[in-house]
Amino acid sequence: MGKSSKDKRDLYYRKAKEQGFRARSAFKLLQLNDEFHFLDGVQRVVDLCAAPGSWSQVLSRELFPDGKNTKKRIVAVDLQPMSRIEHVTTLQADITHPRTLTKIIELFKGEKADFVCSDGAPDVTGLHDLDEYVQQQLILSALKLTVSLLAPGGCFVAKIFRGRDIDMLYSQLGLLFDKVTCAKPRSSRGTSLESFIVCQGYTPPLSWAPNIEKNVSVEEFFEEFFQNWSIQQPLTPGRPLPMYSEGHRGIAPFISCGGLDSFDSDATYHDLPKSATALDPVQSPTNPPYKRALELKRSGKLGRSV
Ligand code: SAM
Repeated sequence: MGKSSKDKRDLYYRKAKEQGFRARSAFKLLQLNDEFHFLDGVQRVVDLCAAPGSWSQVLSRELFPDGKNTKKRIVAVDLQPMSRIEHVTTLQADITHPRTLTKIIELFKGEKADFVCSDGAPDVTGLHDLDEYVQQQLILSALKLTVSLLAPGGCFVAKIFRGRDIDMLYSQLGLLFDKVTCAKPRSSRGTSLESFIVCQGYTPPLSWAPNIEKNVSVEEFFEEFFQNWSIQQPLTPGRPLPMYSEGHRGIAPFISCGGLDSFDSDATYHDLPKSATALDPVQSPTNPPYKRALELKRSGKLGRSV
């Protein structure tokens, strides 16, 4: 979050700085939680794709309101390094890598999480099909970690981009959770396809335990999961998993949250007092891609070869 960008006019960007959040995304989680109250009483949380860490900041403030160190635990995972956040254990890892799951399980000492969230977004290439594919892989990887980490009854929240095959994802999630809702917080730009799936009441099949040792692709992992799945049959102990089929496409209810009185993220607000000053970024970038170029420039070695 620098000083000069389009975001300069965005109220959520300004509010994030005022309230000490590292990114305006904090308000997305806050507005989702105001609607769904999924953070009430949670003890163990996993924040996937967490850098620079504004969701982890929200989680830290919600879980540790008086700053006391209790048995609660927050684990934040990202490819990028993250600066320290109080009460948050950070893990620099790729969520698509099979070993990441084992590392998170170790951090929780075998205990299950009650809430997993993922705000993951890959670097876009501009090749639409490729970008969509990579985003879907990211969601599936987050889901693979979730089904292995979440306690029954737990909640999963993830960023999605409403694309062509999103109804398939809704149905698959509907097999795993009691309630699946697609939500758009006011702080998420209306001009973006970004939304969040809020999956409440995790109901893992009783006869299934995730095989975390096996090094399989996400597709193979879920193939095994959905083998012999039949959604008409209620799940009972000892019964094989119901079969999932392409025909079971679903529609999730879509709701907008954040209230009409909250700021519109696409609007430009001009009514700043004259005395208003620009605040410094809450957290400087830890390892920005332009760092090397700056180092070369400072040492006078940055030049164009002719
Ligand atoms: N929720 C964060 C916050 O509030 O500060 C913002 C997350 S940002 C929109 C998306 C993050 O996804 C980036 O930091 C990126 O490094 C991370 N990411 C993308 N692919 C990833 C992967 N395979 N494993 C871990 N993190 C990944």
